[in-house]
Amino acid sequence: MPDLQDLYRAIILDHARDPQNRGLVGDLHEDHTGQSHQVNPTCGDEITLRVRLTDDEAAIAALSWEGQGCSISQASASVMAELVEGRSLDEVSRLAGQFRGLMDSRGRDPEPDVVEALGDGAAFAGVSKFPARIKCALLGWAALREAMLLAAPTTGEDSDD
Ligand code: ZN
Repeated sequence: MPDLQDLYRAIILDHARDPQNRGLVGDLHEDHTGQSHQVNPTCGDEITLRVRLTDDEAAIAALSWEGQGCSISQASASVMAELVEGRSLDEVSRLAGQFRGLMDSRGRDPEPDVVEALGDGAAFAGVSKFPARIKCALLGWAALREAMLLAAPTTGEDSDD
C-alpha cells in the first residue's frame, strides 16, 4: 500500500500544478455575486475569490478564484473550489467546519467520515502539524466565507460556529 502521506503530498502537488476553477469568471456586479480578497502576510499568499449564488441564494452556482503564493494555499483553494461548487450553503458551511476541524487536529489522522466528506481536502491533514501553514490552507476558505456573505447579505450570519 502506498504511504498515506505520499498520497496526500501527491494530491497537493497535483492541485498546485493544475489548479481547478482558477481565473476569475463572470461579472462582479451581477446579482447574487460576491468577491473577497484575502492576504496571508506571514507567507505572502493572496487569493481573490468570486462566487455567484443561485437565484434563491441557497447554493453556489459558480466559483472562480485567482491567487499567488505557496503551493499549500493555492492547492487548498483549488481543492475547495472543486468541492463546494454546486453545493447548498448548508453543505458548504458544514464542509468549512470540517476543514477547520481538520486544521485543528494537530496531525491526527482524520476520521473516515471527514475523509469521505472532504475528499482531496483530507490531504491537508498533515498541514495541521505546522501552525505557520494552517493559515495558508485556510486562506481560500476565508475568502469563500466573505464572498458568500457579500453575495447574499440578507440570508444572515453563519452563526453555527
Ligand atoms: Zn502559504
